[in-house]
This record gives sequence, structure tokens and C-alpha cells, in this order.
Amino acid sequence: MATREVFWNISPLGELLFYLLALVAIAIFAYGIYGHVRRILQGKKVAFTVRPLWAKLSAAVASIAANKTIVRHDASAGVMHFLIMWGFVVLFIGTVIVTIEYDLFQKILGREYGFWVGSFFLGYELILDILGVLFLVGLVWALIRRYGLKPPQLSWKPLDLALPLWLLLIGVTGFLVEGLRLAATASELGYNPRWSWAGFLISQGVRGFPVETLRAWHLALWWLHGFLALGWIAYLPYAPKVMHILSAGVNLFFQDMRPRGRLEVLDVEGAFERNEVLGFQTLKDLTRKDFLDLASCTECGRCEANCPAHLSGKILSPREIILELRAHANEEFPAFGKPKEHKQIIGYSIKPEEIWACTTCMACVEVCPVFIDPLNKILELRRNEVMIQDKYPAGFTDVFKGMDGRGNPWDMPASERLAWMKGLEVPIAANLTPSPFPKGKGNSSPSLGEGTGERFEYLFFVGCAASFDPRTQKIARSVVKILQHAGIKFAVLGEEEGCTGDPARRIGHEYIFQILAKQNIETFNNYNVKKILTICPHCFNTLKNEYPALGGQYEVVHHTQLIEQLLKDDRLKLTKEIPATIAYHDSCYLGRYNRIFDAPRNILKNIPGVKLIEMERHRERGMCCGAGGGLMWLEEEPSKRVNELRVKQAQAALDGHLRQTPTGESEQPRRSLVASACPFCMIMLEDGIKSKNVEFENKDIAELVAEALA
Ligand code: SF4
Ligand code: SF4
Repeated sequence: MATREVFWNISPLGELLFYLLALVAIAIFAYGIYGHVRRILQGKKVAFTVRPLWAKLSAAVASIAANKTIVRHDASAGVMHFLIMWGFVVLFIGTVIVTIEYDLFQKILGREYGFWVGSFFLGYELILDILGVLFLVGLVWALIRRYGLKPPQLSWKPLDLALPLWLLLIGVTGFLVEGLRLAATASELGYNPRWSWAGFLISQGVRGFPVETLRAWHLALWWLHGFLALGWIAYLPYAPKVMHILSAGVNLFFQDMRPRGRLEVLDVEGAFERNEVLGFQTLKDLTRKDFLDLASCTECGRCEANCPAHLSGKILSPREIILELRAHANEEFPAFGKPKEHKQIIGYSIKPEEIWACTTCMACVEVCPVFIDPLNKILELRRNEVMIQDKYPAGFTDVFKGMDGRGNPWDMPASERLAWMKGLEVPIAANLTPSPFPKGKGNSSPSLGEGTGERFEYLFFVGCAASFDPRTQKIARSVVKILQHAGIKFAVLGEEEGCTGDPARRIGHEYIFQILAKQNIETFNNYNVKKILTICPHCFNTLKNEYPALGGQYEVVHHTQLIEQLLKDDRLKLTKEIPATIAYHDSCYLGRYNRIFDAPRNILKNIPGVKLIEMERHRERGMCCGAGGGLMWLEEEPSKRVNELRVKQAQAALDGHLRQTPTGESEQPRRSLVASACPFCMIMLEDGIKSKNVEFENKDIAELVAEALA
């Protein structure tokens, strides 16, 4: 009959000993898991399930099964992980099947055989050998990748070598045991050994040895295999790197499905009244999801490899943020006993310079295969530093003063908000819309007065950068030209516009953010605003994703979205040729935060004469310009400037394209350009272009469209 004896060549005493060892391993495993669960439950509760349970479950299972999150950003690592993961899973299922067969059917129910016979058994043998070999291939690949190819984001700690070798040894000894058994039982086997093809190949190599020798080798290797496998089970919860086998799926299940670019609203005044902490001061302030994040990190380093702060030589590494917090958590929340005294995170496990180097670009969140969010931890640490400890880089003092006093981080008077529109006919909302409150009766606004009664479709929210910065003012002027060309009815707020509050929020000053946001919402509502057009992705993200939590619900569009739509509707015709090779730079807040990748590219493709090329890092993996998170107002060390790194990448793409274009192919000289769709990016790229002394222009999409209009 096609089956085999489960404990072949093992004495009853050996079998008993194995069961005792298995119990010990399971107990050690359970103790480790208990420690993790206990630590996670110390966190604050979070409630953000916005999808039905089954939808979250199926999404998590599908994502894990296909290794989607790994393959998406690194195909080679993805295939390697796919082989190891599926090999491991199938071998584990195989062990469970044997356990059910032997313990339930044969021991408890007293049958000679259960279901592990005949064609089921043969299929089992075939599949397990295939997946077992693929498992070994994946492990060898992992070792070659780490120690041969040496991607910079991988570490080379002793455990990084020991863990895959351990698994490799489990796999190899498993096949050797199978081969020796097949060789020793060849004459009495009830099935064709080729079904166990990997073991069969090994058996062919040892078939000349006496049966007693084969049995002795089998016994020794069986125990070695058993020790290694049980040891692995016992050690699993204690090896943080490996713990992701269990925790990653849970973390995927509990991932926050709300818009990415949204920060939680804090009750700042209430917290002050109640003498509560704001942000993360100690580990007591972390949520359960944060602790789950810490337990799930595989230490793969993808976040670090994509972090602009790290790449430009700064102290920050999102991986280290997670690992430092994890080590801190393990220390303060032991598996048994009371939690230890809670130390302030900043200064103990994390240095202040680490959190102040973050541009909030979200690249780390984007690439993490297990949906860990290092950014939210950095922002919560900033909130505590700013609002409770009153500690932040000196460069932010004037930013806060400007936003608090004059409603903008440039600290400019409101009257200057009209400067960019000099010479243009730009409708101002206060001059169009009659006030709902006649002057003098409850209307304290200086500008809400007698308007013409003309309605506008879009409120053009210019933003502080394009209002005050001379270079980016040209973007606002170009947008006005486009809107007027397409016959769109719009208005600006002029002096009534205030900063959305994004820089304050990302630096950590929630209080200033909320004051500014509430003022803007009041102004929008006074004018019955329904649609907002913005040229700044930071404004766009805040107005679209963060104002709703404060009562401001509007249809918000970025100028690239509107222009794309106007082109589709034939309301704009781009007829003037721009002979240029253009590399498009994705703004983090437009692209990664809000998934607007195609609109800017589609517009560029519509401009006659434009050849659109991509930089190596683009779309989801686009590299930050260095301005986000309030960092535009901080001085960077000259050798560690993110914007210069990005300019170098743009130059490499443009030069590369030039080299590939055979001489004489173009009839006329082409301009080399980097296009952007964000005033912050423009300021940073302009600065980088000047300091790197490179020869290409930097234009906003709106400027190019305005140029291409007849
Ligand atoms: S958000 Fe960007 S800058 Fe900040 S840690 Fe993540 S990758 Fe680095
Ligand atoms: S946080 Fe995510 S991307 Fe970063 S090392 Fe950990 S698992 Fe990898």
C-alpha cells in the first residue's frame, strides 16, 4: 500500500522523547508569543476598521499569498521570498497532515491508517518534494543576494547568516532522512519511490551501503532534523526578524485603510486642560498598532534604502527608528512581571536629530512589505517635542511666529498676497460674492461686503509659496492664464487666504494647524465654496484629506488634474511646440500621498515637441525634493542636501537620454527640463540647480501648458 510508517526506525522510547521535546518547544514558543501579545496589549486601543472584516481578511491573505508588497518594489527579493514563504508554508502543512494522520487517526482512533494512503499519499510526497526543493533554492538565493550581491540596505549581523543556514539545514537533513529511508526500505516499499523524487535521487547515491549503516545514518540525521525543527519553533518568537512570519499577516490585516495623507486630529486644548501628554513621550503613548508594527519589522531595510534623509547622509533611518523603539519596548515591557519605568523616548532610544531629518515623504511607508508606518511614529514624536517639551530646531521659531502671527510661514503681511497677480485680471471672492451678512450686522470681516453677485466655480487657493516666492508666483500666473483661456469661472481669496497649516502640522504644532484650518474653513463657508483648485500638493493634501475632520468638506482638485480634464474636454488646445526633453519629478504629497501620477505625465505627453523621460526613481518610488515636513525652512549641511541629490538624479536621466539619442536625430536644439507640479519642489530644485551648476531648466506643468497655448 502506498504509505509509510511515520516513526520508521525510531524506537518507542525515542518517539516518547520526541513528543516530550515537542511539548517543551511548544511551551517555549507559547511563552514568547505571550510576551508579544502582552506587550501589544499595553498600547492604546485604536479603532480604524473602515472595511468589512471579510474584505480586510481576504485582502491580507491575497497580498501575503502573492507576496505583492515585496514583488512590487524589488522583483528579485520578491521571488526569493515567494519561494521561501511558500516552501515553508507547504512543509508546515505537510507536518500538520502527518500529525493528524498519526496522532488522531492512528493513535487516538486506533486505525491502522487514516487518509494518508494511496493517491493522496503519492500526491503529498510529490508536492512536498517540489516545494521543499524550491524552499532550498529560495534560501540559497537569499544567501547569494545578501553575501554575494550585497544590496546596501541589508545588514550582515551573525543572525542574518545563522537563520537562513538553520532553515537550510532543516531542509537538507529532511531530504537526507527521506533518501536514507527510501534506500534502506527499497525492497519492502509499497509504492514507486520516484513520487518522492528528491529523496529518491539521494537514495540512488547511497544504495550500495548495508541496510544497518543506512539505518544508523538515518537515526542520527532524523534526530538532528528533529532538534533543528523543534529548536526553530521554540526560537521563532524570540527572533524579531523571524517573528514577522506570524505578525506580518496580522499587521496587514490591521492596516489603516483611510487616506494616507491624513493625520489624526488632536484635542490640544482638552489635553492641556486635562494635563495629558500630546504625541509620543514614552512608550505608554503608543497604540496597539504601533506595537504590532514594532513586532512585525523584518529588518529588510527597504525603507532605509528609499529614505531621502538617509541617502543624503543624515542620521535618520526609518528602519533604525523601528528597531530602536522595538529594543526600547522589549526592555520596558518584559514578557513577565511589571513594566519597567518608562523613559522618555527622545534622548533615550531615539536622538532628536533623527526625527528632525524626516521630510515626511512617505517613501518608507510605501515600500514596507508589512505595512509598517515609521512616519507616523516620527510625527507623533515631533508633536510631543514641539507642544509638550517646547524643543525643536531653531529654524522653526520664525515659521511658527509667521504662521501664528500673520497666517503664513513666510511671515509676510496679508497685503503681499496680492503681489503675484500684478498686471492680471484676477477676480477676488470678496469683490464678487455678496456677503451673507450685511456690513455692520455681525460681519466683522473687512472684505466681506457688497460683491457683484457673480458666482465662481472654483476657489483658486494660491497657497503661501506661490503668493510670496518670486519664482513660484509664475506658476500662479500661468494657472490664471490657463483658467481664463478655458473660460473657467474662478476667484481667489487674496488677503483673506491663510496658510492651510500643513507645515505647522508636519513639524508637530497641531495647535497652530487647527487655528489656521478653522479660519480657512470659516472663510470658505462664508463664500459657500464647493470646489477648490490648488497648485500646491501640500495644500491639496491638507484641504482634501485633513480639513474634513474639522468640518471642511470640499471638492479639491490639483491644477494638473483640472488641466488634464480640460484637455480631455477640448477646452484647452496645446498647439505651440516646445522642443524639450523633460524628466518629470513626482511630488511626494501629490504622488505617494494622493496617487496622482498620471495626470502630470498625460499633460506633458499632450504638449507638441515634448519627449517625456523618467528618472530612475519615479512614481511610487519618486525621490523627495527635501522640502516636506517643514524642512524647507531648515538649513541643511552642504554635503547632505536632499535637493542636490535629486538634481543629480535628474541630470543623470537627462544626460542618459542625450547619450542614447544619436547625433543629428533632432532637427532643432532641444531644451533639457525637469518638470514639477509643486511650488515647494520648484523652490528646492531651483536651489539645487544653482548650487550644482547644472544646465537644465525647472518648470511647473502649468508654466509649460501656458507656454504651449496658442
Ligand atoms: S517619511 Fe521619508 S524622510 Fe521620513 S523617514 Fe520615511 S522615507 Fe525617510
Ligand atoms: S520597517 Fe518595513 S521596510 Fe523598514 S526594515 Fe522594517 S519591514 Fe523593512
